[in-house]
Amino acid sequence: MRARLIITKECHRGCRDCATSQPGVIHSARPITAVEELAEYEEIIVTGGEPMLDPVRTQRLLAAIRARFRRVPLYLYTALYHPAIGVILDMIDGLTYSLHEPAAAADIAGFDAVQNLLWGRDGSYRLWVDSAITRPIRVYPFLWSRIATGRMIPDCPLPAGEVLLIWEPPEPGSGS
Ligand code: SF4
Repeated sequence: MRARLIITKECHRGCRDCATSQPGVIHSARPITAVEELAEYEEIIVTGGEPMLDPVRTQRLLAAIRARFRRVPLYLYTALYHPAIGVILDMIDGLTYSLHEPAAAADIAGFDAVQNLLWGRDGSYRLWVDSAITRPIRVYPFLWSRIATGRMIPDCPLPAGEVLLIWEPPEPGSGS
């Protein structure tokens, strides 16, 4: 069984059919409060919201998961380039990167930067590109394990074999 772990509900994009923004999806996610609760899963997918809005927090959490579960495949889903992805790639087994419409020049530049980071790396790197994007983009297919294009599907079901979790550690100073 794979764990799909929502580590933040925040995202800067606000895509109309975003699954994480649907209350039913968040309510169906099982809260976990400690990395140890991931012990039963064969694979861990860290997602959001947008994990790279807070790259330090995401990096720390991925490092904690990696330190606790050295052999469990660990993946990150993101749609936002940040230079910290370069460090994060050393901790994880793969990345799924999404390029959404509207894609501003900064989004295209961020995508180019991600491709630069993937150059020469081994890993499972998946790309999803919104087919509505009108700006020209340059994709280097040999960098990616899988490339998909299309539109977001409303009420997209959770893939088979996955459990949806949400990261809700105790607030500092809460005493729990
Ligand atoms: S980028 Fe992803 S998480 Fe953010 S609003 Fe769009 S679908 Fe949701």
